[in-house]
Amino acid sequence: MTDDHLPTAPASAAGGHWDADEFRRHGYAVVDWIADYWRSLDGRQVAPAVDPGAVAAALPSAPPGTGEPFEAILADLDRVVAPALTHWQHPGFFGYFPANISGPSVLGDLVSAGLGVQGMLWATSPACTEVETVMLDWLAQLLDLPKRFRSGSPGGGVIQDSASSATLVATLAALHRVSEGRWRGTGVDGEYVVYTSSQGHSSIEKAARIAGLGDDGVRLVEADPDSLAMRPEALRAALAADRAAGRRPAIVVATIGTTSTTAIDPVEQIGRICAEYGVWLHVDAAYAGAAAVCPELRWTHAGLEWADSYCFDPHKWLLTGFDCDAFWVADRAGLVEALTVMPEYLRNAVTDAGAVIDYRDWQVPLGRRFRALKLWFVLRHYGAQGLQAHIRSAVAHAAWFADQVRADDRFELVAPAPFSLVCFRLREQSDEINSALLASVNASGHAFLTHTRVAGRFTLRLAVGAPRTERRHVADAWRLLADAATALLARDRR
Ligand SMILES: *Cc1c(COP(=O)(O)O)cnc(C)c1O
Repeated sequence: MTDDHLPTAPASAAGGHWDADEFRRHGYAVVDWIADYWRSLDGRQVAPAVDPGAVAAALPSAPPGTGEPFEAILADLDRVVAPALTHWQHPGFFGYFPANISGPSVLGDLVSAGLGVQGMLWATSPACTEVETVMLDWLAQLLDLPKRFRSGSPGGGVIQDSASSATLVATLAALHRVSEGRWRGTGVDGEYVVYTSSQGHSSIEKAARIAGLGDDGVRLVEADPDSLAMRPEALRAALAADRAAGRRPAIVVATIGTTSTTAIDPVEQIGRICAEYGVWLHVDAAYAGAAAVCPELRWTHAGLEWADSYCFDPHKWLLTGFDCDAFWVADRAGLVEALTVMPEYLRNAVTDAGAVIDYRDWQVPLGRRFRALKLWFVLRHYGAQGLQAHIRSAVAHAAWFADQVRADDRFELVAPAPFSLVCFRLREQSDEINSALLASVNASGHAFLTHTRVAGRFTLRLAVGAPRTERRHVADAWRLLADAATALLARDRR
């Protein structure tokens, strides 16, 4: 190799390219650092109090002029970064939805970083594309998804960075289909409409905005007040009203496991209505989709054969680090037609022959990294049984917690809890008291929960899913909540 175009590296280790042995030494130190961090989690505050700007103030205001020793960088992880983290992998983390990881996932990501390949085309790294295709087929089997999503059918799967991107890509493919291709040529040529329930994810509105439909192009269909699932009759009424007004229904996004309370939309009934109106059905199962690795939870996916596209996030509840959203379409040709652009510098014989998958045509960016490696590591390390055990333990912990809530008259469950999220509040108490309850438990540092609003009322959410969470951590959270409730209610009476 000729290096004459490169500046000469200084003699010291800092400032120049590492040789293989230097990388090995520092790499082992980083793996040690991560292992020690994981081991330390139980003793850390889940979400430490940090003032805005504190982290930025601890960093130099200008980049270093000369390279620094790697040891100094690692030391600042402990000094600057770790104290200002919300510890998502903490066994007492019950906020939002989990973003759980695992050792095999981290190492798969490390290998991907080390390879540094760009998988935009099959030809730019055949393994990057083909491992991904097979992993998406494996996942489709693990979840028992409809056969039309497999690569051996007209459909297929791809990894997106997030469920938000999956929704955007589904919206674009739907626009292409409903406009019979005119959207691609001349842009949005009519008043297209996107439908989801009032409980649908915010990324659906964002996708509509990005696609040029505007907030006016979104219908939030009424949900049933008890189940919080989309009301099919309300969807039908909205579609009919828009049709009558000359607007063009483009896509319905149904949700399996809404973000607020894990409500499950009636996908089969919605699917029949979509078929009647010729509307694309996308099913967003970002968090709850992972549950379908367990046969006893597959009822939650009933009606999925009606979907034109489906996604879930292995990066939420399937032990695979962010970012990894698995997205399938029933008609890959339509998706590719909507998104493909072929500049001369990417032309190659296998693409021209139609012999391969080029995943750049399945997503918004051109470039993509080798994310399938972490899935490959995770699926092989855990196997179906290991993944099922992970889901089942979270579901059992949540069911135990829901039992405690049910058995304590002071509390009430606010929504059904079919997965590992429990929504609850202090019965007949104000939003202020419930909000104070949440703040008090989070201030303890031992547990971290977040909140939502259900029927306008402040509601606490406890989501189980961190791989190190054991029953004792859920029991601790319950004890903290019960004690804080006692203190708050006594104070309120005085
Ligand atoms: C979390 C979530 C999303 C967004 O997920 P990202 O992968 O972070 O974009 C979308 N839909 C639902 C139902 C979610 O719970």
